[in-house]
Amino acid sequence: MPVDVKEVKRRLLVFLKDENLVSEYIRRFGPTIDIKNIKLIKENESTDAVKEGDGPSEGADPIFESLLICPVCNKDNIVSYELKAKSQQVVENRLLQQEYLGAMGHKSVDYDNLAVSICPRCLFASPDRKDFSSISKITGKPVPTQIPQNPILTLQEKIGERKSLVAGIANPEDFFKRPRKPDASILSYKLAGMRANVEAYHELPNSLYKLGFYYIKMAKLIKRKGEDDSAALRDALGYFEECFKNSNSSGEATEYKVLYMIIALNIRLKEDRKAQPFIAAFDKIRTELAAKSKTDPKINLSSVDMWLNKAKNIWEDRERNDLWN
Ligand SMILES: [Zn+2]
Repeated sequence: MPVDVKEVKRRLLVFLKDENLVSEYIRRFGPTIDIKNIKLIKENESTDAVKEGDGPSEGADPIFESLLICPVCNKDNIVSYELKAKSQQVVENRLLQQEYLGAMGHKSVDYDNLAVSICPRCLFASPDRKDFSSISKITGKPVPTQIPQNPILTLQEKIGERKSLVAGIANPEDFFKRPRKPDASILSYKLAGMRANVEAYHELPNSLYKLGFYYIKMAKLIKRKGEDDSAALRDALGYFEECFKNSNSSGEATEYKVLYMIIALNIRLKEDRKAQPFIAAFDKIRTELAAKSKTDPKINLSSVDMWLNKAKNIWEDRERNDLWN
């Protein structure tokens, strides 16, 4: 008698109460129900819950899976882990690193562990699903990548470079699967950084800004592992400085955020003096904008004031021990 996969899935859902666990079960054991295997999946899930987040580990899973297509090598069925809207309360520290706490009946999952999707064949990686191609769920039509053709060609040329970063990993697909171990999450941001570096080479707007924040996330994951995050923070600072110098950010609000990050990172890395010229530059931008706003009522100072005040607060509190908690 042929196996009715739909029926097996329905029955598995009764036992496992979670569609991701059902997919995981089918992937590992095929479409046959075995209580022993159900127990295995449940046991794994309870240990994963501890690993995936710091807050409450009880509640519904805030993650759902969708499928993407690689714009570089055309591999399909690449699993992307997405966060359900409003399922986490997000708290930011002064380096704009996020902490995720379960909300609205969901358990806590540190989404930074899962945010980057990776093509297991050519290691193209990005936390932005629009960088991938996909099939629209609404129209059923292909949606192309938002990355222009020339960077895609360079990304094709650099497959070997990305592969050398994962040399020694037997099966990248398994390695990056959920639950992602800290080393896999850190590597996922390194791969995303290699993609953004190609975009920066082609002078795409915001590529250096993205690079800076990938390294900020990486630093958080490194620190959480109990290791020294200063090298990653220095890399982030380098990208933000380059971004400011080249005016690589689109929009003023992004530029203020970049200036804020340069000031915060210099103080965090105990290079207070290097932060000073950037505070002066920030003050000058604010003064000039205020002068312009007198004749142009469209100019709004709230964004520049918010980031400048945040930066000045760090400067004033720089001796505090709990500043970076
Ligand atoms: Zn690929």
